[in-house]
Amino acid sequence: MTDKSTPDFEKLDPKKHIIIKGARVHNLKNVDVVIPRNQFVVITGLSGSGKSSLAFSTLYAEGQRRYVESLSSYARQFLGKVEKPDVDYIKGVSPAIAIEQKVNSTNSRSTVGTITEIYDYLKLLYARIGKTISPNTGKEVKKDQVEDVVKFILELKKAKVAYLISEIPITSKSNFKNQIQLLIQQGFSRAFVNNQTVFLEDLDQSQCGKTISLMIDRYKIDNELKENQSRISDSVETAIYEGKGKCVVYYDSGTDIKNQKFTNQYDEEGIEFIEPSTNLFSFNNPLGACPKCEGFGKVIGIDEDLVIPNKSLSVYQDAVICWKGEKMQAWKNELIKHAEKFNFPIHKPIYDLTEEQYNLLWEGNSYFGGLNAFFDYLSSNTYKIHYRVMLARYRGRTSCPLCKGKRLRKEAEYVKINEKSINELVDISIERLKAYFDQLELSQYEHQIAKRILLEVNSRIDFLLNVGVGYLTLNRSSSTLSGGESQRINLATSLGSSLVGSMYILDEPSIGLHPKDTQNLITVLRELQKNGNTVIVVEHDEEIMKAADTIIDLGPEAGYLGGNLIFNGNLPELLKTDTLTAKYLNKKLEVYSSSTKRKLNNKIKIVGARENNLKGIDVEFPLHALSVVCGVSGSGKSSLVKRVLYPALQKQLGEYGDKNGLFEKLDGSINQIDAVEFIDQNPIGKSSRSNPVTYIKAYDEIRNLYSSLGLSKSRGYKASHFSFNVSGGRCEVCQGEGEIIEEMQFMADIHLVCEECGGKRFKDEILEVQFKGKSIHDILELTIQEATDFFKNQEKKIALKVAEKLQPLIDVGLGYLKMGQASSTLSGGEAQRVKLASYLGKGGSQKHTLFIFDEPTTGLHFHDISKLLKSFEALIEKGHTLIVIEHNTEVIKNADWIIDLGPEGGENGGHLLFQGELKDFRKAKDSVTKEFI
Ligand code: ADP
Ligand code: ADP
Ligand code: ZN
Ligand code: ZN
Repeated sequence: MTDKSTPDFEKLDPKKHIIIKGARVHNLKNVDVVIPRNQFVVITGLSGSGKSSLAFSTLYAEGQRRYVESLSSYARQFLGKVEKPDVDYIKGVSPAIAIEQKVNSTNSRSTVGTITEIYDYLKLLYARIGKTISPNTGKEVKKDQVEDVVKFILELKKAKVAYLISEIPITSKSNFKNQIQLLIQQGFSRAFVNNQTVFLEDLDQSQCGKTISLMIDRYKIDNELKENQSRISDSVETAIYEGKGKCVVYYDSGTDIKNQKFTNQYDEEGIEFIEPSTNLFSFNNPLGACPKCEGFGKVIGIDEDLVIPNKSLSVYQDAVICWKGEKMQAWKNELIKHAEKFNFPIHKPIYDLTEEQYNLLWEGNSYFGGLNAFFDYLSSNTYKIHYRVMLARYRGRTSCPLCKGKRLRKEAEYVKINEKSINELVDISIERLKAYFDQLELSQYEHQIAKRILLEVNSRIDFLLNVGVGYLTLNRSSSTLSGGESQRINLATSLGSSLVGSMYILDEPSIGLHPKDTQNLITVLRELQKNGNTVIVVEHDEEIMKAADTIIDLGPEAGYLGGNLIFNGNLPELLKTDTLTAKYLNKKLEVYSSSTKRKLNNKIKIVGARENNLKGIDVEFPLHALSVVCGVSGSGKSSLVKRVLYPALQKQLGEYGDKNGLFEKLDGSINQIDAVEFIDQNPIGKSSRSNPVTYIKAYDEIRNLYSSLGLSKSRGYKASHFSFNVSGGRCEVCQGEGEIIEEMQFMADIHLVCEECGGKRFKDEILEVQFKGKSIHDILELTIQEATDFFKNQEKKIALKVAEKLQPLIDVGLGYLKMGQASSTLSGGEAQRVKLASYLGKGGSQKHTLFIFDEPTTGLHFHDISKLLKSFEALIEKGHTLIVIEHNTEVIKNADWIIDLGPEGGENGGHLLFQGELKDFRKAKDSVTKEFI
């Protein structure tokens, strides 16, 4: 240990350091920490050592609190919820910005484009320099100004004469003469009829249609015309005024009379368009929103995925399931019978149909009624119950038929820049968007207007590319992003808004990131620091630690064994110490590596997976083994495992699951699998009465033990008396919580220790029952490790059983947790490992379960990864199968079977680069992953 933990606090300059004195949040042991400001700092340590407690619950919480304090009391009453963290003092804090992994899914309309603000800039760009192109004429729709008309007249070269005409509507037939008289009084004298001028007094109603073509002025086209410019301007102004925004110039082209129409309205050939404004491109605005779906992109209608659930079937193979059955198949047969006449491929899988063919299937033609007609038929016969039921079965939220799910009204689609509409731009990957803007050619005038906007757009695009999410599209709904993706996008956005003098606190930004992208991430973090910010990152990644200016190591272990500052300094100094982190970095300790070589006999197989970007790949997963699915971010790992394999297995096992992604079939030894479990990092229980020990059912044994004791028997206490979930033995005042939560308006809830039981959760008489001097409450105060040691050394059989039940929690590295610690306080990684432990703990004759894990190393130190790998091995030894999505090279090295997807993210990914054993991995083609192994 270096002696940096007790510097001379009073002398430190809070302009140069963040000074934390006496932090005691959660497991922190009254620690003093000095963090240099304007540096790139990594906080590391085992899972549960206290990193988040220091970074988020102490430092960030204090930053937030100060911010709220600085607001007016009026604003403050709306914020509330700011507790002062348990710390003596903190000096030198700046405004704090936490970039966490939480996926913000509250706003269903938010997209990558809106959260990065790129969409706001695109709206501005389209409003300023977008050109409206008429879909009918292909011509640009323009609003003409007086100058445009004048310019046109002055530039008439071949003509000898030009007439400036306004079309005046005839107000009423009976009143025609009066109207003419009025025009004469206003000083007009001629009209223009059949390409000739006529005196107004000679004009007959029969010579006019609905309008009078009033001649406003007439020009001889010659060299002197230029000198008359102001006269022309005046008369054009009059013409536009009289013509209610419109005028026409007739001119002789040498052979005949031609005309050119002008309007100061936004239309083309009589069709009115909407002038571009930012609101036109905003689906949150009534002007821009599609009128049918009001900007949601979805409406209640016939759900195509319900009608054609399996897109790998052809029409002939009954892909359209509502056309199955005796009665309804007539619809299908009609199509099959005539298909040849219009070249419809009835034997092609649906996903292979062209857009045109697919639309035909819905729209029908003169030979057959399409699906739309079919559903119309059902709708018009809903008095038949059978039809009503059928209709209901296929209804769902579907893409809006008017805007095709794009949310904007169609007029927005007419506005283009370089032949692309805003909808087209949000549909392409950010990488391709970069290419589009790089090649964008603008006129000098447009460039002037767009310069600033393009600067903002381009810098944001570059940041997004740097954080490795170039495969995403701007219209990707933010609720479908993974935690890591969403965190890195927030990071890129922070860079875009370039604040200075702030404190950025990040939680494992490397999650979900392929090692090849780590360097770019480091560059981004550096940039944030160079802009004048303090960047504090909770991380385990070796490369990121190596790049940091300062490393803060907490430990020595986790929970009550952690919470101390064990190192604070730079990397070379850290390497001289013997903290667990240093030992792993020095290779004095190595991550566990299995020596067992498993025989891979039986396999299951996914054939033709093509969900999202997957390219119809066939993938095998051996049973009773550890398969690791790897590849760069966006290569298709989640699509394959979470969207295809998992739901397919659920369906196979007769469980209710998500709608499965696209694939052809599930094959191989599927019959050998009894169950499938997806182990995520979601919390295991929100109630403060649930805890890891109740979750793995060890608490049942403890209750049995206490109810079997002599005193319990004589007093008639049952096992339920030792439960805090049912009344009987628990303290009724706090209902076994041990504390009372006082809800305060406009303030954080206050947790008060229950006065009745003094926080002991049970009635006094229950606490009188003791086992070897310990009451049930004493047991709940022990750590899991302490409790296991305690029960292991007893003679009573039940006690041994308790120890046995608790052991899996120790095996997954959670021995440091308190027995009674509420589940709601566990971190995501801890919760995931509790779930893992619950399976490890199940008895001998278990069903063969296929476990799926998504990045289980999240939040884990090297030392924790060893424990995780051993737990994996234990699960396989119990006869289970494991499939893991993971970037961590240590886990990949331990795999029995590697599945590598790539070569890139997005469109250029989704190929199977390799599947096989580690020893053959170097043969993989185009794999960036193998370079890191
Ligand atoms: P790390 O971020 O290093 O993984 P944490 O700071 O999340 O660790 O946790 C440190 C210790 O404090 C762990 O033992 C954890 O279980 C415990 N802990 C975390 N949150 C709470 C809480 N709200 N109440 C009680 N203990 C907590
Ligand atoms: P990985 O798990 O390897 O990071 P994913 O399977 O999440 O990759 O993504 C593969 C591709 O599919 C990416 O281009 C991603 O943007 C796209 N994708 C993933 N989920 C969705 C979704 N819900 N909607 C649209 N595209 C998606
Ligand atoms: Zn719509
Ligand atoms: Zn109580």
